[in-house]
Amino acid sequence: MEPLLHFAIAFAIAALLRLKLKWALALGLVGILPDFDVLFFLHRSVSHSILPPLLLLALPLLWRSSRVRGLLLAVSLGWASHSFLDFIDDYTPILFPISSKSYKLVFESSLFIKSQPFVSMSLTVLEKPYNYGVFTYLDAPIFTAGGIAIGLILIALTLSAYYGGLRSVLEKIFLRKDLPRKAAS
Ligand SMILES: [Zn+2]
Repeated sequence: MEPLLHFAIAFAIAALLRLKLKWALALGLVGILPDFDVLFFLHRSVSHSILPPLLLLALPLLWRSSRVRGLLLAVSLGWASHSFLDFIDDYTPILFPISSKSYKLVFESSLFIKSQPFVSMSLTVLEKPYNYGVFTYLDAPIFTAGGIAIGLILIALTLSAYYGGLRSVLEKIFLRKDLPRKAAS
């Protein structure tokens, strides 16, 4: 999945956890980190396993500071969101090293109308052996029109949450009121 969507979703998760804006932005970058495997000529590699972020979830239990616990939880969820989004997008080794296969979640639904309407839905997990090799070339989209639209809308909605909600932002723009900046902790 494209970097902007990974950023936007991790950013939104951090905002839901009420992290400060600077931490939420940093968490957005954590959402992109697993794709840095391309620097090593790997794509959808073991950095996409969902197990490390799940293990990270256990760490907050060992920490007394609620601030550190909140950050660890946000890093864990931001990282896990990347693995899950790639899992529904294409084959991803989400269970490495427990499984040496790549998995893809396929959800399909369709509406058929003739004499009577008919709705069909299916949920399937496909699998294939994980390819440990490096690539000689990579041809992957960085941006798509749908990804840009959804990503920017999500970032705008998340940012508005830091400034008192969408209504407050619109009032600021159209009525020129001062924005009450929300102090997330
Ligand atoms: Zn990825």
